[in-house]
Amino acid sequence: MNACPRDAIAATLDEDGFLLPVVDEKRCVDCGLCERVCAATQPPELAAPSAANLFVHNDRDVLRNSTSGGAFTALSDCALAQNGAVVGAMMDEKLAIRHAVAESTGQRDRMRGSLYVQSDPNFVYRDVKALLEKGRFVLFVGTPCQVYGLKRFLNRKYDNLILVDFLCHGVPSASLLRAHIAWLEKLYRRQAKSYSFRSKKFGWRPAAIEEIVFQDGSRKSALPVQAYNKFFHNNVSLRASCLTCPFRRAERCSDLTVGDFWGVAKICGEKLRRGASLVLVNSPEGESFLKRASQAGRLKNVPIEKILYRVAPPKPRVKGDRDAFWKLYREQGYPALVANYAKRSKKERILYYWKRLVKIMIAKLLG
Ligand SMILES: Cc1cc2nc3c(=O)[nH]c(=O)nc-3n(C[C@H](O)[C@H](O)[C@H](O)COP(=O)(O)OP(=O)(O)OC[C@H]3O[C@@H](n4cnc5c(N)ncnc54)[C@H](O)[C@@H]3O)c2cc1C
Repeated sequence: MNACPRDAIAATLDEDGFLLPVVDEKRCVDCGLCERVCAATQPPELAAPSAANLFVHNDRDVLRNSTSGGAFTALSDCALAQNGAVVGAMMDEKLAIRHAVAESTGQRDRMRGSLYVQSDPNFVYRDVKALLEKGRFVLFVGTPCQVYGLKRFLNRKYDNLILVDFLCHGVPSASLLRAHIAWLEKLYRRQAKSYSFRSKKFGWRPAAIEEIVFQDGSRKSALPVQAYNKFFHNNVSLRASCLTCPFRRAERCSDLTVGDFWGVAKICGEKLRRGASLVLVNSPEGESFLKRASQAGRLKNVPIEKILYRVAPPKPRVKGDRDAFWKLYREQGYPALVANYAKRSKKERILYYWKRLVKIMIAKLLG
């Protein structure tokens, strides 16, 4: 879509709300450029990471507002400090998730936090190219497939570009998230202003504390039925292509890879309750950029063989019938999914609340 010289390709939503390209045959001149640049038709060009690091940002506010250890903020601050632009995913006023360009810390702050849904890149690759051609420095963050897509689109190396991907579990559809928020709005009879997938209200762990802020300023967190989260972790709501993702491996297509440093206590012997980032170095350019950016926090080298199990997880196993899940969503809507796939028995509910309460109390006690 970004590469087409005739603007003959549009991104449309399929019946489950996933973005799909559709070619306007009347405009298409059969030049074949889209097929040559398409990341889905080319085997990925990947490189093994040369180093793995633990990173924790120095600023507690940054840690609170970041999903992991604030690596993204450190990297993007470094890019902005050299009059660069940061390109990443954000939630807009309509609660839609899309890629955008940030040229100030205020705009960048809107990109903080993991959005566990497919971000719409729209024409942002063209914006990236225009910035690079003007000589501006660009830091691009996205899923591994989005990073590889940008690489294919640019089709040449730029010294003023740093690519960052993350350890990606996969993405649910944008319309499923919209339906989840609408369901919460109905449940609380209030209109949503913003939604966070992983609030750090109770610390980095427990990780799945969703939070919704309403237009009247009230907020709810640790919601009773973590339906969206459950669908995500059961892999049933993921895009079909995520289930056979060719990027789900130790070798990477970016300069740097970020992720949650789960298991940090075991591997590094440190208890980091406010969050910790795992940062993989995949290129010499990534290495020197990380060195500069890491002044904002603490960077510690970790033996790479110790974290390989995290970086290249096994193929996701779908718990439940994926086809039946989406069929039900199409035919009866989100409330039916909650009733059928996220419902807990009374015993399960009581156990769930007790476990959650204990976890939250422990997190609070340990600060
Ligand atoms: C869909 C998804 C799946 C993930 N799966 C895993 C996983 O399985 N294991 C793991 O260790 N880490 C995973 N992560 C990464 C992790 O959740 C954090 O995003 C990462 O560690 C960065 O955290 P941070 O503290 O550095 O900064 P944060 O401020 O939290 O970083 C946010 C950055 O991620 C980008 N981003 C957020 N949502 C999206 C999106 N939907 N599409 C593209 N870019 C986005 C933003 O542009 C920003 O650059 C996933 C992230 C996403 C978005």
